[in-house]
Parts: sequence; structure tokens; C-alpha cells
Amino acid sequence: MTSNARRSRAGRSEAVVVGAGAGGLAAATALVDAGCAVTVLEARDRIGGRAHSVTIDGGAIDLGATWFWANEPLVASLVGHLELPTFEQHLVGDALFDAGVVQRLDGNPVDAPATRVAAGAQSLVEALADRLPDGTIRLGRPVHTIVADADGVRVCTPTDEIAADHVVVAVPPPLAAESIHFVPDLPGDVRRTAERTAVWMGGMVKAVAVYDAPFWRDRGLSGAAISHVGPFREFHDHSGPDGRPAAIFGFAPAVGLPVHDDDGIAAAFRTQLTTLFGRDAAHPTMTRVANWSAEQYTQPTAAVGAGTGTYGHAVFHRPVHERIHWASTETAPAFAGHLEGALGSGLRAAAAVAESAR
Ligand SMILES: Cc1cc2nc3c(=O)[nH]c(=O)nc-3n(C[C@H](O)[C@H](O)[C@H](O)COP(=O)(O)OP(=O)(O)OC[C@H]3O[C@@H](n4cnc5c(N)ncnc54)[C@H](O)[C@@H]3O)c2cc1C
Repeated sequence: MTSNARRSRAGRSEAVVVGAGAGGLAAATALVDAGCAVTVLEARDRIGGRAHSVTIDGGAIDLGATWFWANEPLVASLVGHLELPTFEQHLVGDALFDAGVVQRLDGNPVDAPATRVAAGAQSLVEALADRLPDGTIRLGRPVHTIVADADGVRVCTPTDEIAADHVVVAVPPPLAAESIHFVPDLPGDVRRTAERTAVWMGGMVKAVAVYDAPFWRDRGLSGAAISHVGPFREFHDHSGPDGRPAAIFGFAPAVGLPVHDDDGIAAAFRTQLTTLFGRDAAHPTMTRVANWSAEQYTQPTAAVGAGTGTYGHAVFHRPVHERIHWASTETAPAFAGHLEGALGSGLRAAAAVAESAR
């Protein structure tokens, strides 16, 4: 059991950030920039949360977030500031449409212009982490209890109990409401709102197939497709900047897919790719499946009936018990669901902590 002093020195606020996704690390870097001493507690053994990239054939494959868009100033300015190489989503060629019979469309109405971070979306979050003092982030620390009283907060994991002035809960609100014990409990309106908030993409499966070459491009296909047959509903080219690694990804709602059978999901994905793109698609060099609905630290078990109507709700912008602040993309008033919203939510929470400290 470790314990930090509530104030490391006079006038210097201490804050704990729960969750090392884009929202939590945006909050943590802003708090450090404002002179706060910060500890970040992350449940997983990696940072990034729903920004999760893996390296395959020397290139990045995104198993979570992929794109950012021209109207998203925070991501664009962060990418520029951190000098992260980017490239444009491949759009050229025709898209496919499958409603029982595969049709080739004239052009690509499926994809919108978008930009990718060359080293993967997770590298954006890692670049934020690199700006924090050594030892700020503790991995493998699932927070189970947050106690708030007049003196401050205590944030507890199985191995830590950290006292601080403020805590930023940068965990999707419905997951926090389900998995963190708040003492005293969250006010009724906050709990109800959190519980009926959906985790963005939390009910989705993303699968990626990697090939020796982007063979579909040689046939004038963009790699984009829409299927009304399923289980995968949309497909996009996911190749690297120069076409390597060559890859296509798909999204499927997790409902109806076997929950703990990634091999079965991968096989269903390959079958659909073959139906759409022909025999060349049947044997990718690798298939990766990310079932976000089965991720303990993304999707709550009680996700039924939750929606997006509460995104950016006012209750997420009021400190709970004057010391608990929400981040996470679902709490953002703008671009909720996207990385842009996550960054904005972290900056807003950090500003609220700094304001309270003054
Ligand atoms: C398949 C998929 C595709 C997507 N595509 C895009 C896209 O193309 N563009 C885009 O802008 N966005 C996209 N998104 C959304 C984007 O990934 C999210 O908006 C963003 O990553 C959310 O960041 P966050 O910090 O709010 O939450 P998260 O990334 O979920 O971070 C929350 C963190 O809290 C941790 N945590 C949870 N519980 C606890 C606990 N009890 N104690 C400690 N830590 C805890 C988690 O492990 C996680 O690291 C996509 C998401 C998915 C899943």
C-alpha cells in the first residue's frame, strides 16, 4: 500500500487521473503544464485505451481508432505540435455493395476524406505520455474505490491508496458507474445519466486482414464496401502509407457474434472478404480481431439500452462532491465519440481542476 501526501508542497494541487486513454492523458499533460503533481492509474498493462495499434510487417495496424478529420482542431494541432507523420486515407477506386448480390458501385461513396497517423492512433496517446514526468503513469492499476470528503479524495486500486485534492475519472461514465465504488455514491442524476450513456464503439468488433499486396487496388477497387448481409457491415482499406502493410478492416456489431471465439469471428470475416473481393481475399497472411464488447476495461456488462443522447450531458461538467471530474470522449460537448472529443474532455477536466485549486 502506497500513499502520497495530499499536497506535495504548499499551494501545489495533487490530482489523480483514472485511465490512460486519450482523455486521461490530455488531462494529465494539461495538469502537469499547470503545475499540478499528477498520478495516472491505468487498469490495463498498456496505455491508449480505445486507441490501440499493433505493428505488423513494419507498419501500424489500428485495432481501435483509425482516423481524424479536417474539422478536428485538437487532434490536428497535437499531431502538428508532436510532429507525428500522417497520411491520407486511401479513397481511390470503386466501392462494393452487398445486399445478397455483390454490386460494384461507380466510385467510392463509402469513405470520406480522413487522415491517419502513420505510426497508428495509439502513437498519439503515447506521445502525450512521453510529455509526463517519469513514473507518472502506473499500469495494471484498476481503480475500484474513490472516496471523497471535505479533505480530498482517496483513490484505491488493489495495490495503491492515493490521497489527492482532485480525481479525474477518464473512464467511460457507464463503466465507471458500474465498476468503481464511489463513497459517497454518485448523486442520483449523475448515476442515472452515466448508466444510460453508451460507450462509443463499445459494442463493436473490428477485424483486420493483412495481405502481401493491396490486390484490390490493381482491379480499380478502393477496398471500401457496405454489406447488408453481415455480420461485418462496412469495410475500408487499412493499408499503410505506401500500400504496405496491405490491409482491409471491417466493423461488425458484436451482437450475434460468438463472444469468446475470435477464431470463429476471423473466419466469418474472411468468408465475407472473399464474397466481396474474390478468391485473392481468402488467404490473408494474418487476421486480427478486436472484440471491444468483451473488453473488461471498455464495455460495461450492463450496456443494454444505453444510447448516445447523453453525450456531453451537463452533469458530466459539474464536479461530483466538488472533487471528482469527468473526462472520456462520451462526456465531451463536441466531437463526442471521437479522439477529438476525448482530448477536449481531458482539457476541460484539467481546467476545472485548476480552477478549483485556485
Ligand atoms: C473500433 C473503434 C474504432 C474507432 N475509430 C475511431 C476513429 O477512426 N476516429 C476517432 O476519432 N475515434 C475512433 N474511435 C473512438 C476513439 O477510440 C475514442 O474516442 C477514444 O480513444 C476514447 O478515449 P478516452 O480516453 O475517452 O477513453 P478510452 O480510450 O476508453 O480510455 C479509458 C481508459 O481507462 C482505463 N480504465 C477503465 N476502467 C478503469 C479503472 N477502473 N481503473 C483504471 N483505468 C481504467 C481503460 O483501460 C482505458 O485505458 C474508435 C473506437 C473504436 C473502439
